[in-house]
Amino acid sequence: MADQVATQDRLDQVFARIDDQRDALVALTQDLIRIPTVNPPGDAYRPCAELVGERLRKQGFSVEYLRAEGAVGDSDRFPRTNVVARIEGERAGETVHFNSHIDVVEAGQGWTFDPFAATVADGRVYGRGACDMKGGLAASIIAVEALLQSGIPLAGAIEISGTVDEESGGYAGVAWLAERGYFSRPRVDHVIIPEPLNVDRVCLGHRGVWWAEVETRGRIAHGSMPFLGVSAIRNMGLFLTLVEQELYPALDKRKTSMPVEPEGARSSTLNFNSIHGGLAEGFDGLPSPCVADSCRLVLDRRFLIEEDLDEVRGEIRALLDRLRDEVPDFDYRLRELFSVLPTMTDKEAPVVRALDQEIRRVLGKEPQHIASPGTYDQKHIARIGHLHDCVAYGPGVLDLAHQPDEWVGIDDMVASAKIMAAATLRLTGSLR
Ligand SMILES: [Zn+2]
Repeated sequence: MADQVATQDRLDQVFARIDDQRDALVALTQDLIRIPTVNPPGDAYRPCAELVGERLRKQGFSVEYLRAEGAVGDSDRFPRTNVVARIEGERAGETVHFNSHIDVVEAGQGWTFDPFAATVADGRVYGRGACDMKGGLAASIIAVEALLQSGIPLAGAIEISGTVDEESGGYAGVAWLAERGYFSRPRVDHVIIPEPLNVDRVCLGHRGVWWAEVETRGRIAHGSMPFLGVSAIRNMGLFLTLVEQELYPALDKRKTSMPVEPEGARSSTLNFNSIHGGLAEGFDGLPSPCVADSCRLVLDRRFLIEEDLDEVRGEIRALLDRLRDEVPDFDYRLRELFSVLPTMTDKEAPVVRALDQEIRRVLGKEPQHIASPGTYDQKHIARIGHLHDCVAYGPGVLDLAHQPDEWVGIDDMVASAKIMAAATLRLTGSLR
């Protein structure tokens, strides 16, 4: 009991410090938003990485800038510069790593605020990247600064990284660093990714992805005599009809035990990202009359942790093979573009338990465990780094990500900073 009182006293000191830093937290979020790290093409990564790195260097962190030379997208004009900062504790313990991506998607249309002015209004900071995820990055920095300044002796170590290209797959960011051991034991034990999943929710993982291009092949002929050719577009229509009649109903019936939000994404899903048949794209004169000899479809299949990637591929191929066997002149090619396996951290993992406990303490409510319908950098940490004590937890409302007038709530940033700081003290072993 005396121990619990002592713990609460020490946490109260850290929380009071975070409350005092409210304006600094807003200012840091604004500074980050005002560097327009738009991806693609991957603008201004270096100055944004330096803003994070030089601030943390002043707090005693050792700082590395790591350019992913030779990685996809890297060039002298658009260098893929990541920052990793680390501070050692005074005694042995475990390492907590906060990983945030510094890239943002394009602003798009429909804003009432300047997307890179970082306007403060109604207790919110508005701007591209406010919730996804510069507000989360700022909250993790303020959290760690407050606990370092609190006088509680730190055990283990803390790392903060700002990484590039999450919005385009993370290959020059977290994947590149994971290949070099930055997300593996013994260097790191626990990873928190402050993506905007709402301040009272812990995101355990995400569904899998399989992207493929299906091309139906036909035979060109004069459009006035289509019976002399084979229409790739009509053949694609046969495939789409089969998918509609057989695959969609089957996918809808498959339910996952993963707590995916929104609930509609607890089934397997399939989207057609694009389709094109016939005359080359980008020509706006009159077309010539031809039977299309090619039709291409890009499909985006999101699959569940209960499903197997080979089965996901196999069921598409089975439909196409059936058409080839049954329909004269049906010919196709299937090209795989990209796949990500589903990942989910155990809900009893140390990082989950620590965040749960501190969400209860700070917000006074029961934390919710969720999984994400789309993927994020946790995939690389799990698959390349083989580190499974990793979750996404951060302020910001998920639905606002990538939207016009994106914002992050200042109260939520402050609350999440307290939760991150307390969880870090617990996970590093500093409270013992
Ligand atoms: Zn994000």
